[in-house]
Amino acid sequence: MVNYFRAYWYLNSMKRRAYWPLEKLKNHQRQMLRQILKHAYETVPFYHEIFDKLKIKPTDIKTVEDLKKLPILHKDDVRRNLDKMISRVYDVKKLKTVSTSGSTGKPLRVYLSEVEDEFRKAKHLRANIALGQKPRDRWVTISAPIHFREVGRLQRIFGIYVPRSVSVFDDIAKQFATVERLKPDVLDGYSNFLFVLAKEAEKKGCHSISPRFMISGAETIDDHSRSFIEKVFHAPLFDQYATVEFERMAWQCREKNGYHIDFDSVVLELIVKDGEVAHPGEIGEIVCTSLFNYAMPLIRYSVDDIGVYYDEDVKCKCGRTFPLLKRIEGRSDSIVVLPDGRILLPLTFGWSMEFYKYYFEIDQYRVLQEKLDLLKLLVKVRDNCNVDERVMADELIKHLRSILNIGPEVALEIKFVDEIPLDKSGKLRKVISKVSGIS
Ligand SMILES: [Zn+2]
Repeated sequence: MVNYFRAYWYLNSMKRRAYWPLEKLKNHQRQMLRQILKHAYETVPFYHEIFDKLKIKPTDIKTVEDLKKLPILHKDDVRRNLDKMISRVYDVKKLKTVSTSGSTGKPLRVYLSEVEDEFRKAKHLRANIALGQKPRDRWVTISAPIHFREVGRLQRIFGIYVPRSVSVFDDIAKQFATVERLKPDVLDGYSNFLFVLAKEAEKKGCHSISPRFMISGAETIDDHSRSFIEKVFHAPLFDQYATVEFERMAWQCREKNGYHIDFDSVVLELIVKDGEVAHPGEIGEIVCTSLFNYAMPLIRYSVDDIGVYYDEDVKCKCGRTFPLLKRIEGRSDSIVVLPDGRILLPLTFGWSMEFYKYYFEIDQYRVLQEKLDLLKLLVKVRDNCNVDERVMADELIKHLRSILNIGPEVALEIKFVDEIPLDKSGKLRKVISKVSGIS
């Protein structure tokens, strides 16, 4: 059960930290880093082995700069070693799990303790409150059911920060009608879904949805789409950066001067090819260390996105001292448009797959829209998969037709492959459409 006092305490202390002098923040981050490294070494077999293999101790890593003594962790490493990654201090049966298919099409489970879950909730609220969200605002979030935010009993009784969720699996007419009925003060959703919703509002010539502000996330949003959404809904749109593994990590404040990093809960490194840290302005791979995941520490974990730092001298007018990311890239996968005009985003496929009966037998997949009426799925099954491919294919086609409401006018083909090639940018894109997208 959610401990509201603890969540409230977290929120209050977090709000204050956003204004601490940078040196004080850095000290705090270093302290938190040392603690989690010590904990990981002492209680998590996976990290114990890594430290031993490298012949180093947690005390050899005193600063963020020292972190490069440890290897970068990829999703595959975590998937392969999942049972060795959970701290012995916790009873795994009592832990919560969150599941991701991420932008790479590879499923991954992350374990959380109750305390971590409360911390994540408080952290999420910090940015929303900074943008002007009030406890009793009508807060409408458009996302997949698997990611609907939990609402506790007391939260519901007092009506404090209660999100009203709209499913991305509903067709756009239904989503639109629901949002219109809920009259949001704060409209929060995946970037491309907000765009699609704005297109629908424009088509209908409808002005009844008029939030005070909007929050987008999950996919990067281009300036054109952002301006369009803001124009249609007559409200500013603020972007946030989050992953399932780390929850929200960076966010735009009202100044929209880059993205403030949640510096007190994550170490966010930008790494260039040779393993060095990117200079401000230089593009780097985003590698994160959670300072709060004690049940399943994630240290130097690559989230498969790329970003660019602002120079440390760039100060935000809002007065918060959390360092800024200038850009986040790498989340703009392709969009599938079906013959009936419905739009399926990469994340929609990800969530659909999570409900598939043999989801955890799949190592990687890619959706290829070759023609408007042909979707091909390349599937790489995990080693030692003992489910018959024919059975998997039949079940998958049946599942996708049902969950995504795809009729016989679209052919679905499954092809089992040994490898899914990287795209030109070196990313393992989950969805590639050769049909022109929405405009
Ligand atoms: Zn700011």
